[in-house]
Amino acid sequence: MSDRSDVSDVRLLLARRVLRPDAPPLDDAGVAVQAGRILAAAPTVELRARFPGARVRDLAGATLAPAFQDAHLHLLEMVQRATAAALGGVREADELVARLARAPAGSWALGFELNLHAFQGFGGTPRALLDRAVPDRPCAVASTDLHSLFANSRALAAAGLDPRGEGALQEADAEPLRQALPRLEGPALRAGLAVLAAELRGQGITRVQDFSGLALDRALWEAPDPAWLPLEVATSLLAHELGAPGAADFRSGDRRGRVTRGYLKLFGDGSLGSRTAWMLRPYLGRIDTGRATFRDAELAELVADAHRAGRRVALHAIGEAAVRQAARVLGPGDRLEHGQHVHPDDLAGLGRAGVCVCVNPAHLALDWQACLALLPQGGQGAYPLASLRRAGVPLVVGSDAPVVPARPWTAVRWAVQRATRDGQPAGGFHPEEGLSLGEALCLSWDPASRLRPGDPADLCALDGDPFEGAPDGLEDVRCLECFLEGEGQPAVGRSR
Ligand SMILES: [Zn+2]
Repeated sequence: MSDRSDVSDVRLLLARRVLRPDAPPLDDAGVAVQAGRILAAAPTVELRARFPGARVRDLAGATLAPAFQDAHLHLLEMVQRATAAALGGVREADELVARLARAPAGSWALGFELNLHAFQGFGGTPRALLDRAVPDRPCAVASTDLHSLFANSRALAAAGLDPRGEGALQEADAEPLRQALPRLEGPALRAGLAVLAAELRGQGITRVQDFSGLALDRALWEAPDPAWLPLEVATSLLAHELGAPGAADFRSGDRRGRVTRGYLKLFGDGSLGSRTAWMLRPYLGRIDTGRATFRDAELAELVADAHRAGRRVALHAIGEAAVRQAARVLGPGDRLEHGQHVHPDDLAGLGRAGVCVCVNPAHLALDWQACLALLPQGGQGAYPLASLRRAGVPLVVGSDAPVVPARPWTAVRWAVQRATRDGQPAGGFHPEEGLSLGEALCLSWDPASRLRPGDPADLCALDGDPFEGAPDGLEDVRCLECFLEGEGQPAVGRSR
């Protein structure tokens, strides 16, 4: 820590209450900050006595808490959405055609959040539908869960695929199309990231783990000022990028400015909605159990190669069988992404493996009905947050934005209530797997910000105390100002 004898650069942030992850809350309290680090969290009288010359910032009635981490999101895709048509809620072909006709100008027409299952009276192929909507330029549209891409004839041709195909590509089959999409890079990418970072800070987020791969890593790592983005970002390397230029330098934990190299991302299975999550038991009314990406030996070799190259692995595993495989193959320092369906027999093994699981409580909003419709026993074992915790599995929370918006209070509320705000399903989805508010917050807060002396002053000033209201109101808690290393950014451009 820096020199304590000089208190002239010490600042006090004072609040009505201070919430701490590892200790009871403090009333009429605050933090002393010097050079971006916490000196102390203590009652106001004590801080004023210890740091008499300090500058004081009175956060008048606010609650001061650690800032949030979003441990799984896709920054590049989030920026790309700003240049594409939003297709969520579209139920008819004519509406789809109209919305895509208004897609921003560009060499391609792009769209996202298409839910083909919700279409009424549509019998043709996705290609025919998109050809009708966009006849004159390539058009590609992502499904709500991002596991499928739909394309028109021109897009298929541009990707080197058969232009008379169905135009529905899942998982790895969509890779040629993904590669052919126009790239966002240079100044346009940096401008988009700056806007996005300000939005995330407005939500109280100071730390993210990105899974957009090398393109994002380069944009941040090679920037002249590696701290230009006001956000702690861990980057990633995607499996198909292993042979790409620059991939060889990617080592987990390397750090430059506010950028840290994170994980090599591998996909162990698909998703529930596409019935590609690899389950132990067949989907309801079917004989198939989803789709495994790897045999054990194949995955073990990839993981061992990664470890030898100094890389930790983040393995996407949603179904019970994929989670079981992950528990067998991953080691301490590796991470399991989603861990959505876990067989009770595998909880202890996961705990012993020391593998951190990144859970997505807010995905219950998309999935609880699918769990009831597609899985045996009403989806028992889905989103087993309490069971994972009891088994001693280290947990972090991610939104997987843009799958759902990066809103920490939404995730916290779903982790606690496991129901929509208007109470669906009644009593919550398998409510015994819910967390207490304190537990949900501790998992969601930035792990570096524990408010201990020496911790970065990554903090949120909240407009109320989340413990005082009913859980229904958690999504109404507002971040008034978000501090990164003591530097505040007031919430701006909030729509609600
Ligand atoms: Zn993801």
